[in-house]
Amino acid sequence: MEDRYEVELAHVSKRFDGVTAVDAVSIVVGCGEFLTLLGPSGCGKTTLLRIIAGFETPDSGAVILSGKDVTQLPPYQRDVTTVFQHYALFPHLDVFGNVAFGLRQRGLARGEIRRRVNAVLELVKLPDLNDRRPAELSGGQQQRVALARALILEPRVLLLDEPLAALDLKLRRQMQVELKGLQRRVGISFVYVTHDQEEALTMSDRVAVMSNGRVEQVGSAEEIYEHPGTEFVADFVGASNILDATLVRGGEGMSVVVIAGTEVAVSRLPEAEALPGERVRIMIRPEKISVQPSRETSGLQGTIESGVYLGDSTQWRVRLENGQEVVVVAQNRDPYQSPLDQLGRSVSIKWEPQSAVVLSVRS
Ligand code: ATP
Repeated sequence: MEDRYEVELAHVSKRFDGVTAVDAVSIVVGCGEFLTLLGPSGCGKTTLLRIIAGFETPDSGAVILSGKDVTQLPPYQRDVTTVFQHYALFPHLDVFGNVAFGLRQRGLARGEIRRRVNAVLELVKLPDLNDRRPAELSGGQQQRVALARALILEPRVLLLDEPLAALDLKLRRQMQVELKGLQRRVGISFVYVTHDQEEALTMSDRVAVMSNGRVEQVGSAEEIYEHPGTEFVADFVGASNILDATLVRGGEGMSVVVIAGTEVAVSRLPEAEALPGERVRIMIRPEKISVQPSRETSGLQGTIESGVYLGDSTQWRVRLENGQEVVVVAQNRDPYQSPLDQLGRSVSIKWEPQSAVVLSVRS
């Protein structure tokens, strides 16, 4: 029984006044899994989360929680709680009152409420602030109260809608690590909405990348970053170079393509079904490319157009002979050479075949 999914969405769609917010999404969340919905503003993440919570009813498709079809059930009959970006704490209640609120509603005994509030405040690392009102807390502390208030209800699934967006960058990074640790400790499923790709990669067991109401790809951080299935995912998650190429021959997991007149090896995903002679798109991350002086090595030939010193690394822009631009990020190892010395220089660029991915067949 325990290998069932905590959340199953089957062909869920939702339209608002002619706008398709969610378009035939099917996705599952395992028991104790941290799944993130990642995508740009307006791609339908929040609507999908609200459909799971029961605040929206889908036009079609089914929402199944812990094996039970809840599509037509109201939010309070679903074993999920939601943490919003704006924590919506009760301003007139102190920390204890805010966290205890849900249990008081359920009519639990006072001793039991006190025990559980103290335990959950310890869990979210909020020491000794029981008597403070929300206005007397920092943003990070308010967020912890909101988390405690949701966790105390012991839901099977916690839904989080950009819960760290209001925090400054440093605190956000710290809370990301804490939130992941917390999720592991409590062992419940988290469905987390964000438009911040770094946040998604840091915390999630799996990431669902969304665009225009659809799920483009679902996978671990590594799968999404190393093997993006589509151009949208390659572009949205991390920095990428996307190059035009022609397929020469495909092999077992490996292909040879021509880019700017030169044959290079790339890796091949099963779903990229191009035939020899067809045009394809190749994705290669800037940090996977090495730059060498032209005459010393094979590889794609180009000219360095600019170099930006970034401290630990330098970002180079290399113009290939066919006019395409490639961005390369190189670690600044000893001895450091000023980028200005390199401008206009002829170079060749190379990568390991498995670092470049064939994205899709061009129509
Ligand atoms: P953001 O990151 O900006 O919150 P999102 O990915 O969460 O975006 P949604 O809020 O789910 O996206 O919105 C998806 C689409 O549906 C958008 O075009 C939005 O304008 C539209 N939409 C969402 N809710 C409603 C509503 N109640 N009425 C009309 N249109 C809506």
